[in-house]
Amino acid sequence: MYPWLNEPAQQLTRLIVQQQLGHALLLKGIDGLGKRELGQQLAQALLCQHTSSEEQGTTQDTAAIIPCGHCHACQLVQAGNHSDLHIIRTDQRSISVDTIRQLTQVLSDSARLGHGKVAVIEQAEKMTEAAANALLKTLEEPAGQSHLLLISSQPERLLPTIRSRCQQWLLPVPDATLVLNWLAEQGVTTSGSAASLTALNVNQGSPLNTRDYLTAGTDQRRLQLLQQCAELRLQPQLLTTVQAGLLEQPVHLLWLQLLLQDALQLALGLSTTGLRLADSEPLCRNVSQWGVPKLTQALDELVQLRRTLQSSAGRPVNPGLQLTQWLTNIT
Ligand SMILES: [Zn+2]
Repeated sequence: MYPWLNEPAQQLTRLIVQQQLGHALLLKGIDGLGKRELGQQLAQALLCQHTSSEEQGTTQDTAAIIPCGHCHACQLVQAGNHSDLHIIRTDQRSISVDTIRQLTQVLSDSARLGHGKVAVIEQAEKMTEAAANALLKTLEEPAGQSHLLLISSQPERLLPTIRSRCQQWLLPVPDATLVLNWLAEQGVTTSGSAASLTALNVNQGSPLNTRDYLTAGTDQRRLQLLQQCAELRLQPQLLTTVQAGLLEQPVHLLWLQLLLQDALQLALGLSTTGLRLADSEPLCRNVSQWGVPKLTQALDELVQLRRTLQSSAGRPVNPGLQLTQWLTNIT
């Protein structure tokens, strides 16, 4: 288990052992925390043959050895073969009502191994409204000993009626020092501590996303793109390159936002401590010369632009056009 999940894993396992875990749990937290792994561990703990056996008792100590990892149920879960464990995982845009109907049907049958049934719904926010409504009844009247684990990094997109029927558990963003130590242990290196902290900041504190970002060499791309953005006012011929670069990934606009925020901080004469792009102070200082009014306006408009692009799912928006207008305004 990832070090930042040890404590929540133990707390949740204790609830399972003490039979205080509700039949529906909503596990919330940002992307890249390892929610899937934690969900798997909890599912295994629920199914482990030692969880509710009398001789183990229900002391807090028991939580430390659940799931045991070697009973028949644990071995089946680890092999991805437990007939009472059902995992909904999809690369599609949505989880359909048919998928949820099949799941609720399966949950209503009795458990094969007599230890209850567990369903895990990953990225639960992908459920269509019809799918969510189909799940409601099961959440209200769970069949037998079944447990539902809903996992989501965007729980606000779930129907309020789904959220309110679940025991909710928010996984916090882990402490930066803990994550940086873990990254070093993984052999994921950067050119210095400022670079590591910046990588964590641009990934909003997410350990696994930071690892993937550094491993993929994305940090180089960020430095290059932000450099081009800073040069745009003097070199307008870069407009097309910058525009294409910013549209590659939604997170690229966040990088630019962090640059403008840091530049504004410097333009206001505030301390350099707490810069989000700690590894790019000269670049931030360069952009800070745009001045406070220009930076404030550019930042406001960029935040608005990101919001428009994010909420435009399914609606016709021309992101290229909107971005070009913004870039032209700031140069
Ligand atoms: Zn076991």
